Amino acid sequence: MLFQNPRNRTVRVGDLEIGPDSPLVLMAGPCAVEGIGQLMASAEAAKAAGATILRGGCFKPRTSPYSFQGVGEDGLEILRRAADSTGLKVVTEVMDPSQVEIVASCADILQIGARNMQNYTLLRSMVAADGKPVLLKRGIAATIEEWLYAAEYILVAGSPVILCERGIRTFADHTRFTLDVSAIPAVKRQSALPVIVDPSHAAGCRHLVPALARAAVAVGADGLLVEIHPDPRGARCDKEQALLPEELQALSGDIAAIAAAVGRRFEVPVSVVP
Ligand code: PEP
Ligand code: MN
Repeated sequence: MLFQNPRNRTVRVGDLEIGPDSPLVLMAGPCAVEGIGQLMASAEAAKAAGATILRGGCFKPRTSPYSFQGVGEDGLEILRRAADSTGLKVVTEVMDPSQVEIVASCADILQIGARNMQNYTLLRSMVAADGKPVLLKRGIAATIEEWLYAAEYILVAGSPVILCERGIRTFADHTRFTLDVSAIPAVKRQSALPVIVDPSHAAGCRHLVPALARAAVAVGADGLLVEIHPDPRGARCDKEQALLPEELQALSGDIAAIAAAVGRRFEVPVSVVP
């Protein structure tokens, strides 16, 4: 299987490397792209906390058809501008095969969301991503085997894969999803692929995000994907879980300390005190 091939241990994104042999990677940004002001503020906050990749959804998979669905294609340019002006890379979601080419022309990493993990048409359509890396979220009820076979489709289509644990559905109702911390070492045992963790969608509420992020790093995650917003109360999407810029800074300091304790590096700006 390609997901076991040691050549897939490290994913290169331009001059950045993601994987167990590289420093931890922090991806941060708002749930959804709303406008240039929001994105510039988010990019600056992400950068100041040591993030190297800016996230933001332009095409949003929403539970309700009446919720904000994202700004669409226009958001891609906004995301690119904000990332370029701060020296960050871009990760953004692609929901449909018809969007792959346009998203690949703008983003550095294409995201496939949890709800689409087993959309085999979409997975196969990654051939149009022209070898750009894909961040594959774990489906909300997917086993590790199902997740890895989904990754295999993308690898066969010619794109490197970064796995992302983002919580699964359980009976617990104190969180939005249950972060499956055990999945991180388990999936690393079965595959060579880098694994990052999204504590934001697992928690669903701001106050739990830092604790889950710290746990993820302690069990061996290769990076984090964290939602932030310069004004969470005004966010059009996932406002309850977005960290404030200063909360991301504090989390970065904690991550650097935990990374050091587990033999990993996390390069933070001098303004972040571990
Ligand atoms: C997201 O990262 O914007 C998102 C919708 O996440 P998930 O697919 O994990 O729900
Ligand atoms: Mn979100």
